[in-house]
Amino acid sequence: CGIVGYIGTRPATEILLSGLESLEYRGYDSAGVALVESGKLHYVRAKGKLHNLRTKLEMLPVTAQIGIGHTRWATHGKPEEHNAHPHVDMAGRVAVVQNGIIENYRELRAELKARGHEFSSDTDTEVIPHLIASYLANAEENATSGSPSFFLDAVRKAVQRLEGAFAIAVLCADYPDELIVAREQAPLVLGFGPGEFFCASDTPAIVPHTRAVLTLANGELARLTPLSVEVYNLAGDRLKKAPRTLDWNP
Ligand code: GLU
Repeated sequence: CGIVGYIGTRPATEILLSGLESLEYRGYDSAGVALVESGKLHYVRAKGKLHNLRTKLEMLPVTAQIGIGHTRWATHGKPEEHNAHPHVDMAGRVAVVQNGIIENYRELRAELKARGHEFSSDTDTEVIPHLIASYLANAEENATSGSPSFFLDAVRKAVQRLEGAFAIAVLCADYPDELIVAREQAPLVLGFGPGEFFCASDTPAIVPHTRAVLTLANGELARLTPLSVEVYNLAGDRLKKAPRTLDWNP
């Protein structure tokens, strides 16, 4: 029941793991991390305590500077490794972590299955990377200039299809400088550091790094790059938002 994300110039793995540890109070049954390095998506998931995930990650020779992490409190599908987040599309290019519930996942799953998609978990979450991957393929095929990011557009179109209360963070192997997040009725906070940006379900995962934070509102998406954070609404309009400084006495 926690999300963390990092994009910047430091190795992401430890930042994600310690971020997840600081969200442990929210409860969880399994955990996972996805990273993009050299155009390749890597993801690791483990049942039980974060220690299990940490042990697995220690065997992964990746020093990526972009990543997302998740602690899961199962709502749809047993607390097993194949149901743990991140969930990916069929090509293993798009990775999603999600908090909350996608109410209309049965309809979406049926629609995607009819178009040849195969699923490997019992979660409501898995429809999201599949939807994003299909919108991404569409956007890239019908490429028109003017869009700041095909990846952002694809996530935005997918989010428009989702019903329920959720927060998501998304990575794509083909867009290694973009971390996209969105929220609807579930918490998501962004952190602004010097040349690095964070997202998390709650501030304890962010304050060790920066006190400049921005709480995303319902129906908003953000595109995090190593240089900036851009906030958009579901219609695709860019919104003017500035971080506030947290007053925090640890
Ligand atoms: N509904 C999702 C699942 O069961 C996410 C649960 C959560 O918020 O951790 O996998």
